[in-house]
Order: sequence, then structure tokens, then C-alpha cells
Amino acid sequence: MKKEKKEDIVNSLTGETFVRELIDLFAEKTGCGVQHNGCPCNTCFHSIENTDFNHICWLIILGLRGDYGKEQIINSIKKELNI
Ligand SMILES: [Zn+2]
Repeated sequence: MKKEKKEDIVNSLTGETFVRELIDLFAEKTGCGVQHNGCPCNTCFHSIENTDFNHICWLIILGLRGDYGKEQIINSIKKELNI
């Protein structure tokens, strides 16, 4: 299997696909997708309780830095959101 180059990983994370998947995760978690592109509204987003957003931010940073591929980051965030 061809090893992904770091810039390819970063491009996949900063591209639309990663953003789309992140939006979909939070829309699924909140049950709300009323804003642009199916984003949860502010009220629903802030109603998520018992979530370690520090860890979620850290996972996104690690992903953007290129330490992990998109699927690993998405799966780890799913785990953090219990979805
Ligand atoms: Zn809402």
C-alpha cells in the first residue's frame, strides 16, 4: 500500500470532504442541521454536554498537522461524541 505523503494528508483534511464530515458529525450529534450547509445552529451546538472539546480541538490540530489521516481523526471525534 502506498504511504500517504504528509501534504496529501493535510490537503485531505483542509479540503471540503473533511469539513463536510465534521459538519455531519456535529449535525448527527445535535440532531440539528438548520444552518448553511447543514450545520447545527448555535443553540444546539452549545447544548452538547459532557463533551471534551479540548480533546476534539487537539485531534483536529493533529490532523491538520498531518500526524493522522482523515479517517482516524473522524473516528476519534466520533468516539469523543459517542456517535
Ligand atoms: Zn438547532
